[in-house]
Amino acid sequence: MKILITGSKGFIGSHLGNYLQSKDHDITGLDNNSHPCGQPTKFTTVHGDVRFYDEVDKWVGKADLVYHLAAQINVDRSIENPKQTLDVNLVGTYNVLEACKKYNVPMVFASTSEVYGGHDEPINEGSDTRSQSPYATSKLAADKLCGNYHDLYGLEVYRARFFNVFGEWQNDDDCGAVIPRFTSQVLSGIRPTIYGDGSQSRDYIHIDDVVRAYELLPTLKKLNGEPVNIGTGETHTIKNIAELIIHYAESNLEPDFWDARPGEVSKLLADTSLISSFGFLPAIKFNDGLRRYVLWKK
Ligand code: UDP
Repeated sequence: MKILITGSKGFIGSHLGNYLQSKDHDITGLDNNSHPCGQPTKFTTVHGDVRFYDEVDKWVGKADLVYHLAAQINVDRSIENPKQTLDVNLVGTYNVLEACKKYNVPMVFASTSEVYGGHDEPINEGSDTRSQSPYATSKLAADKLCGNYHDLYGLEVYRARFFNVFGEWQNDDDCGAVIPRFTSQVLSGIRPTIYGDGSQSRDYIHIDDVVRAYELLPTLKKLNGEPVNIGTGETHTIKNIAELIIHYAESNLEPDFWDARPGEVSKLLADTSLISSFGFLPAIKFNDGLRRYVLWKK
């Protein structure tokens, strides 16, 4: 199958392209090179920016399936510059949807658990969406727009609401996620910087499970048009993650507690009943994946 992946130079897009290529698919990436941080790839990535329809159209026209992952993913940056986040995440998704509609190409959209905001209970697909940052709101609007394109124009579209993803090649710079940041800090002898008291928690799914979920999703025709959670159904506190990383790195540093982050979500835990009813179960246990990541980084 000819598959187009937007955001193919990012952490998830690069893993997804390499995985699908290993399954004999013909992969083309589309990326504007704004933040190349993924795994090295053997497939071709063309230069294109999803904010501009003309840069998307012809590549979608050549594909049998599109994975739309290109996004501005940083919450802090979205607070500093909401317009840029809306342009990339909402206008960009609109452009990809329009091209998919024009050429009648199915699309899989990289949505996120951030659309739900904080919930004390496990989150199912019907839970309130309380997006707490421009990033989350942009993704929520784009996710709902995918639903509109399905309901109003009959587009085949899958809305994958991923909980927190981690694994090899995840970016550790200022706008990186917490696991690579803590790991780089600890391996450089710096105390890991916990925002707040570290009691906030997330549901972490390993990248190897994420690419399997992405492969499966467009085969599940009953989920066409519907949002679906992809997570593990387990949470880990940020403090516990810092301690585990210190342990796996064989360090004796202590965490350093900073002010809480604005727009912080206290807890994200997936109710994964829907995707597991289709036979999908994550294979990698959090502690094993985390240990593997720390050793890889070392
Ligand atoms: N976090 C932290 N220190 C850091 C980076 C992040 O304590 O250096 C916390 C952050 O406040 C959040 C959690 O780790 O509670 C996950 O943050 P990340 O940015 O990885 O993901 P998201 O907030 O989008 O779920």
